[in-house]
Amino acid sequence: MTGKGHRLSTFAFVLGATGSPLAATFSFLGSTFPDSSEYVFFGKRRNRYHRRYTHWFIPWLVMALVCFERSHWIVPRLSVLVDGRNAHLDVWSCAGFWLMGCVLHILEDAWCGTVPFLLPWKRSVGMHVFHMSKKIGEMSRGEKNFVLCCVGISLIAFMFRAFTLSSFVDFVIALWRSI
Ligand SMILES: [Zn+2]
Repeated sequence: MTGKGHRLSTFAFVLGATGSPLAATFSFLGSTFPDSSEYVFFGKRRNRYHRRYTHWFIPWLVMALVCFERSHWIVPRLSVLVDGRNAHLDVWSCAGFWLMGCVLHILEDAWCGTVPFLLPWKRSVGMHVFHMSKKIGEMSRGEKNFVLCCVGISLIAFMFRAFTLSSFVDFVIALWRSI
């Protein structure tokens, strides 16, 4: 998947799942790191190791869970971070969401190719739900559709979160009566 595709679908997914723009922003920032870290670790030999060690979900997921556990599983709050007092829980939470961006990157790559499962040097799981464009950095039609689906579903989830269930039902009843 392209960097654009990773950033958009990760931001949308985390926004829909948590309702927090701050958590979504940190996931967005981590969402291309598994690819960019390959340039740091492997340099010109990057192609040989592409989607192997850096795309093994286990270390990213374990580090994310450790951060979430240290944050007491809270969603980060901008007001607490800006205030600075007792912000350590929120800082751990931000780190956890950054690492979740890396986990989601690997999941997204598994929709359009293979990634490692138990052995980090062996790409063994994945599907070809859509194909990548042959031009580097260009989104294929399949990738655009995938990202649009992610954004659409996440927006619906975000809107549902904006209402409590009872106020949402009240809203539908009021709408029905007004017709
Ligand atoms: Zn990747």
